[in-house]
Amino acid sequence: MLSIASLIELLAQPQKIVITTHHKPDGDAIGSSLGLYNYLIQQGHHVTVITPTDYPTYFNWMPGNDGVVIYTEHPEECAALVSEAKIIFCLDFNALGRINELGELVGKSAAYKVMIDHHLEPEDFDDYRYWNIGACATAQLVYTFIVEELKHKELVNKDVASCLYAGILTDSASFHLPNTTSAVHRITADLIDAGAVNWRIYDLVYNNSPENRLRFLGLCLSERLEVLYEFNTAIFHVTKQDLEKYDIQTGDTEGIVNYALSIAGIKLAAFIIERKDKVKLSLRSKGDIPANAICRKYFNGGGHFNAAGGHSEDSLENVINQFKQILPEYKKLLIK
Ligand code: 5GP
Ligand code: MN
Repeated sequence: MLSIASLIELLAQPQKIVITTHHKPDGDAIGSSLGLYNYLIQQGHHVTVITPTDYPTYFNWMPGNDGVVIYTEHPEECAALVSEAKIIFCLDFNALGRINELGELVGKSAAYKVMIDHHLEPEDFDDYRYWNIGACATAQLVYTFIVEELKHKELVNKDVASCLYAGILTDSASFHLPNTTSAVHRITADLIDAGAVNWRIYDLVYNNSPENRLRFLGLCLSERLEVLYEFNTAIFHVTKQDLEKYDIQTGDTEGIVNYALSIAGIKLAAFIIERKDKVKLSLRSKGDIPANAICRKYFNGGGHFNAAGGHSEDSLENVINQFKQILPEYKKLLIK
């Protein structure tokens, strides 16, 4: 275990540092990683952000993005960076399985591992942990880590602030999820004061899709939505052929599941997608419906209470049916 004092002492000298985050990084994964990156480089550290897989192009505007190394594209370079690192920051995940093959490399590396995360049930692979499931985003935790633990508020410059703002914006679903506390708004205000241009960042993230993404959304809403009012549940499903026809890329399906929760009374929404090698599920819920417990119990996954995911090796049709068969177990919660 590493104390905060020892970590501060380590960071007082230039170090080789790797920052990594979860598979299929979202706005918080990339925003928190590049936010921390832009903070650390100001102190002369040699820092590389490594992602296990690629991520949506609407995050490419973030300062530092050009230096990100994607493991699937450069496995040997990543292995060398991990083995040479003195410190590895693990952001927005807490189980090595979430970073795919990179997990094995990080697990056996001699580097100090610093976990900054807001997911439930952390595994025990870290040397220092800054973990709070009450945080709306890992980017929020990176901010309080820099300001309150490392006492470096003056180093939260425009680049740091812009990345962290994007993380909070996306993980709080544009400041509407219940964990968007007054503290989150105060931090957000600090980030704007530090140079984050809030309206421009919103535009870069949300108004930056190709036409086909909107047409694909149209398909989902008109032909792929099934509403089961007896369980206050709605399901979207998309096939491999749909993905091909609309040339759907990483990130293009992000957020579509939330449209189902906009139907009055709907408390549980599933987006079930037939990928090349497996069927992936995204669940979103309202109130006391445990999306993560459903994913953990039935779909090899997990996540947050109201936003979780999982996958299955079964066919799309079977996964849809399996999901429907689970609903009676949660009926009391769903219809109350
Ligand atoms: P999404 O539905 O956007 O893919 O994922 C929502 C949340 O569920 C993510 O923030 C992540 O915490 C979690 N999640 C998604 N897929 C998995 C998975 O396969 N395993 C685990 N443990 N969590 C997942
Ligand atoms: Mn997050």
